[in-house]
This record gives sequence, structure tokens and C-alpha cells, in this order.
Amino acid sequence: MSDDCIFCKIISGAIPSKKIYEDKDVIAFHDINPAAKVHFLIVPKLHVESLQSCDATHQQLLGKILLLAPKLATEQGLKGFKTIINTGREGGQEVFHLHVHVLGG
Ligand code: 5GP
Ligand code: ZN
Repeated sequence: MSDDCIFCKIISGAIPSKKIYEDKDVIAFHDINPAAKVHFLIVPKLHVESLQSCDATHQQLLGKILLLAPKLATEQGLKGFKTIINTGREGGQEVFHLHVHVLGG
């Protein structure tokens, strides 16, 4: 948990979100500014800044997040989708809590 992190606040419930999935490790919610008909984010509950800050200890969590993408996309009615992970300021990352974008439709 990072005090000034918007996604940590969504995870704690301090900021509301349109949640589509939650378990002990992960949360998924609709992007506030959708770039497609369906656009949601899969976010680990652990505060990790970006893919760049991940190491072997995050391997299982990363695998879990990627496997959730097709499952949740199907539940959202998508037959195909794009996944995007922006990493670092120069990679277009704006929220420094790791997340996977899933877009389609
Ligand atoms: P990034 O550029 O860091 O990969 O993407 C951050 C994403 O988070 C953006 O698509 C932005 O619309 C979304 N976002 C930022 N703040 C909030 C928020 O408070 N709630 C939700 N649901 N999405 C947010
Ligand atoms: Zn965070």
C-alpha cells in the first residue's frame, strides 16, 4: 500500500471504481477514460511500480494477471482484445502501480 497511489486507494475502497473482478491477489475494474468500447485494468493488490520493478518473486502474480485477461475479456463479451502494459514515463505510464490494460469491442 502506497499512501499517494490512486490504484492502492481503489484497492482499499477509498476511491470508488466499476469493479469487474477481485480475489486476494488481484483486482480488475473499468478504466475511467475508456479508449475502446470495453477497457478495463487488471491490477495486482501488491503495490509494484511497474514491470521494470518486477523480478522472479513476481512471476506467479504476473502469470495470474495474464491468464485473467482472456477470462475477464470473455466475460465482458469480447471475442478478441488487446493487452497493453505501459512501463515508465517514456513508455506512456501515468499511474505508477503495475497494471495491464485490456481493450476490445
Ligand atoms: P497508464 O498510462 O499508467 O498505463 O494508464 C493509467 C490508466 O488509468 C489510464 O487509462 C487512466 O484512464 C486510468 N485511470 C487513472 N485514474 C483512474 C481512476 O481513478 N479510476 C479508474 N477507473 N481509472 C483510472
Ligand atoms: Zn499502489
